[in-house]
Amino acid sequence: MNTTKKTQQFIDQEAQYGAHNYHPLPVVLSKGKGAIVWDVDGKKYFDFLSAYSAVNQGHCHPKIVEALMDQAQTLCLTSRAFYNDCLGPFEEFITKFFGYDKVLAMNSGAEAVETALKLARRWGYVRKGIPENQAMIVGCQGNFHGRTISIVSLSTDPESYGGFGPFTPGLIKIPYNDIPALEKVLEADGHRIAAFLVEPIQGEAGVFVPDEGYLKRCAELCKKHNILFIADEIQTGIARTGKMLCCDHEGIRPDIVLLGKALSGGVLPVSVVLADDDIMLTIKPGQHGSTFGGFPLACRVAVAALTVVKEEKLAERAEYLGRIFRKELEKINSPMIGLIRGKGLLNAIVVKPHDGKEAWDVCLKMAELGLIAKPTHKHIIRFAPPLVITEEELLQAVEIIKTALETI
Ligand SMILES: *Cc1c(COP(=O)(O)O)cnc(C)c1O
Repeated sequence: MNTTKKTQQFIDQEAQYGAHNYHPLPVVLSKGKGAIVWDVDGKKYFDFLSAYSAVNQGHCHPKIVEALMDQAQTLCLTSRAFYNDCLGPFEEFITKFFGYDKVLAMNSGAEAVETALKLARRWGYVRKGIPENQAMIVGCQGNFHGRTISIVSLSTDPESYGGFGPFTPGLIKIPYNDIPALEKVLEADGHRIAAFLVEPIQGEAGVFVPDEGYLKRCAELCKKHNILFIADEIQTGIARTGKMLCCDHEGIRPDIVLLGKALSGGVLPVSVVLADDDIMLTIKPGQHGSTFGGFPLACRVAVAALTVVKEEKLAERAEYLGRIFRKELEKINSPMIGLIRGKGLLNAIVVKPHDGKEAWDVCLKMAELGLIAKPTHKHIIRFAPPLVITEEELLQAVEIIKTALETI
């Protein structure tokens, strides 16, 4: 891919002054609107990553930006040392929206996961009666829950955990989409397991969709063994997969739900933990928090972002457009397409390398043609456009994907 001088300058600047903790596609973006982004040279692209599904409502959604600007000129941050007139309204709004007793607001997704781990351990000791310092939490192989030490302690991806030990104890990893494995660990150690943490679809693993009924059976097993079922919906939630929560597809209600990313429509970092009183009230004043967690700006933005999802029926859109998207992809005749999978507008193709070309090369070609997506795990390309994308735009995007695969 040819980069212009201007583009190269920004890339070089990041390389010189920034930590080298990412490997971006060589595209430098400077503007976004809806499903479209523009680079520093004014070239237009369809955004098929949506900042890892943080921008479900589309770039710079006017109603979300309006809430941000209005609140930014009024009151941004108070800390939780005092009350403010945004947090309570937000808490009432979001708990009623998702049907839970309580919410605890944090900032990044990783913080929501960390909060859930602490909450699960605390609940395990206070409510379930697990002996002190014995609580275990079960997670799945191939998971992605964030980048902190405890979270990478649960990771099975050497890229994520390698060289970052020693690791947090009390974490068990079992295969994903494997009910007998869960049954076995719960039978063996259920009395000291506090929680089972799972992604309803494994996003970073490459949009790995479990078998129908898997989540429901997991929830039943957890209930049987008095273990909290924690759904990490940070990537799958907020309408991405065609329902407000991905768990809604199986009609299950997790004990703890984690949301982040699109909770702000990509405007600023806002994450939450949702749970009922029996769980949430086990954490007392002074025992957990964050300076910015639930700050006024975040509260206003999150209410606006969720309102947009509901008003614009983005779950229904994702469901409808997702079906069209997969159907159109199936029509593409390319030796590089191994498998197409996904739900709603969270989809992926598993790329079969061909003539020395891999998923990365396909992404470069698509970028050249005006669509940006990113490989995950070398041979998988995730396609997750903003849910506000129009049917016409989606079909244009499919043409680009098709041309890229055919001409590479
Ligand atoms: C992105 C993601 C996280 C981490 O969120 P950050 O805001 O990057 O910390 C956690 N869980 C899942 C499923 C994610 O996709």
